[in-house]
Amino acid sequence: MSDKGILIVISGPSGAGKGTICAELRKQMPNLVYSVSMTTRQPRVGEEEGISYFFRDVDTFEKLIKEDAFLEYAKVYDNYYGTPKEHVMNLLEEGKSVILEIDIQGAMKVKESYSDAVFIYVVPPSLDVLTSRLHGRGTDDKEVIHKRLSLACSELALAHRYDYIVVNDDLEDAIERTASILRAETCKISRNKEKIQYIYKRYSNEQQENH
Ligand code: 5GP
Repeated sequence: MSDKGILIVISGPSGAGKGTICAELRKQMPNLVYSVSMTTRQPRVGEEEGISYFFRDVDTFEKLIKEDAFLEYAKVYDNYYGTPKEHVMNLLEEGKSVILEIDIQGAMKVKESYSDAVFIYVVPPSLDVLTSRLHGRGTDDKEVIHKRLSLACSELALAHRYDYIVVNDDLEDAIERTASILRAETCKISRNKEKIQYIYKRYSNEQQENH
């Protein structure tokens, strides 16, 4: 008795806290798996191959695009990013729920083919907070930060295409709200057809036994 897992798409500007929220959700929900994306960008200090990303060169990435190996891919800040398809599909079939932490272009591509995915947009409470988080992280130079901020503004206008918005004003609370969204989604009738059949059979058997 196992329904398919839920495909969960989380987007939001870099510095919104998506990574921290996703990491915490995985601790709380053992059935949740994080999809490791592939990218052509250079690893940052502390990032590990196969854990943070699969780091590949442009030729390899473009070859995989031609082979239809991605569930979605996009060019973000001049680099390719993509979700390897086969692994995610296998996990969903096994009943695992999979989180994709991807940009808005990729999310909209997923929406075209997987309309029952759950789309969550995470935002910091203000541009000032985002600016100080990006500076505090110390991973990007001024020019990159400037690009990220202007992208954050233009993308926010598209947030209405998502199902849920989580304003990350207080991290603990934002984690709790995101976890609540996922718990509610797992209880949807449309996601529990096999479970309902199983319970129905059990009820019928119990009824027969009692009469
Ligand atoms: P970063 O370089 O900061 O790790 O990521 C930059 C942006 O790329 C973020 O918005 C992140 O969500 C997005 N991203 C990461 N992996 C993927 C992916 O597989 N597909 C798409 N479309 N975007 C991704």
